[in-house]
Amino acid sequence: MTTSDQITTVVICVIAVLVVGAVPFALLGRSIGQSKNAQVLGFWLGLLLGPLGLVITLFSDGRIPCPFCGDKINGKPEICKSCQTRFRWDGDTCTYYPPKESSKS
Ligand SMILES: [Zn+2]
Repeated sequence: MTTSDQITTVVICVIAVLVVGAVPFALLGRSIGQSKNAQVLGFWLGLLLGPLGLVITLFSDGRIPCPFCGDKINGKPEICKSCQTRFRWDGDTCTYYPPKESSKS
């Protein structure tokens, strides 16, 4: 085995460890981000930055505020849990219908 063969083997091993080691962080980052609509961000941060990416994901928030009450909504719900505003989604465009006062009684 020549020196360049050994260097190649070491480089391949280092890359393999980095790749295999990054996958659990990527999956963990995705599950951390899931509750805050930041799963794609969490996946990439975990993959590229490892533990640091997970910390950044913890502080990330991909949720958008409810247009009526301002409470954070996750994903594309049909109704706001806080104020019962109804949403109709057309792709990423949202039409919302504030709760009727009469329906509260
Ligand atoms: Zn709301």
